[in-house]
Amino acid sequence: MSRLYQYVGSNDIRLAVAKFPAGTTIESVSQLENWIAKNSKKLKDCSSLAATFVVDLKGHLCIADRHSEHIACAGTNSVLSAGEIFFEGCNRGWEVVEITNQSTGFCPEPESWPQVAIALDRIPIPHPNKFTIEFVFRRCPACDQLNIIKDNLLICSVCNSDLPDVWNCDRC
Ligand SMILES: [Zn+2]
Repeated sequence: MSRLYQYVGSNDIRLAVAKFPAGTTIESVSQLENWIAKNSKKLKDCSSLAATFVVDLKGHLCIADRHSEHIACAGTNSVLSAGEIFFEGCNRGWEVVEITNQSTGFCPEPESWPQVAIALDRIPIPHPNKFTIEFVFRRCPACDQLNIIKDNLLICSVCNSDLPDVWNCDRC
């Protein structure tokens, strides 16, 4: 069973983006090409572009300008995964060259990758076979801080409390 990720970030951001338009659902190569044409300043023969992405509840890739919050991209809904995506394209078409699960709004697990792969295969667009950078998130049971785990150290960066072995970012 895949996990549904609800927004776990700050309420200030949630309120601030409430009226932003949701991201663009990408269900075909031509939709992706249209979005890239609108959002990249200059298209040469070869080009690259970074974007914010979520996988929505229907399993579709949804992307927005890379400076967008994931909660805005998701239209304030829950997601199956989220992160950053990097497209590169030459004459023969586009591919995903890098992709991460970096979203402090949803804190998706690296294990959400299969949902991302399905969404990318639906378009279809060539992609890596896992997140090229994997982020591990935990919420501190003592002080509530959302931590990004580095070097497998399960210790809160704010209060030094031990962090749990299992994903817990949805607990408040
Ligand atoms: Zn803490």
